[in-house]
Amino acid sequence: MKLLIFGPPGSGKGTYSSRIEDRIDVEHIATGDIFREAVKKETKLGRKVKEYLDRGDLVPDELVNKVVREKLKEKDDFILDGYPRTVDQAKFLESFTDLDALIVLDVTDEIIIKRLSSRRICRECGEVYNKLFNPPERDDICDECGGELYQRDDDKPDVIKDRINTYENRSEPVLDYFEGGIPFVVNKCREANAPIEEMVDSIMEQLRKKNLIS
Ligand SMILES: [Zn+2]
Repeated sequence: MKLLIFGPPGSGKGTYSSRIEDRIDVEHIATGDIFREAVKKETKLGRKVKEYLDRGDLVPDELVNKVVREKLKEKDDFILDGYPRTVDQAKFLESFTDLDALIVLDVTDEIIIKRLSSRRICRECGEVYNKLFNPPERDDICDECGGELYQRDDDKPDVIKDRINTYENRSEPVLDYFEGGIPFVVNKCREANAPIEEMVDSIMEQLRKKNLIS
């Protein structure tokens, strides 16, 4: 089965994808990971990607498309996370693969801000904590190494609002593009710490109702 997953920053796309991967036979493919892998393996495309990343430039659409196609071309079962981000990428994806469904993580802005602004990172070892889900034993001190925990600028409420706006501006046209073409599975989350397994159950139930899984 070929699935796409969409959701704003902080909606848990990575977490959901890996839980879905555990339940049905699909491979979680995150675009960020594909890039890192291509760069590490030093493939022809990977070397090109690295040039852009090293300069701090955005990887151009055409190259992103090639890297994704290279990764997906022989796969029949995946859940794709982080792509397509534009309508042009969506059209490109459809030119070489048939998608079965699109999962939308529908989370309120309030929840995203609550979740992301609770995130803390260790200055020393990079360990990630969340005051809501996995708080450190002592406030603002890393359990692993005793380092000081800090909040990334990206996780401050004003910046989170900007990140949500960017997602909405970029992704809504992509969702509009797929609407009516492939089945949508919409998962509504209205609690900041909603039990993840229950949410995944609900996604599975919807896939079953649409006869996509047995
Ligand atoms: Zn630490």
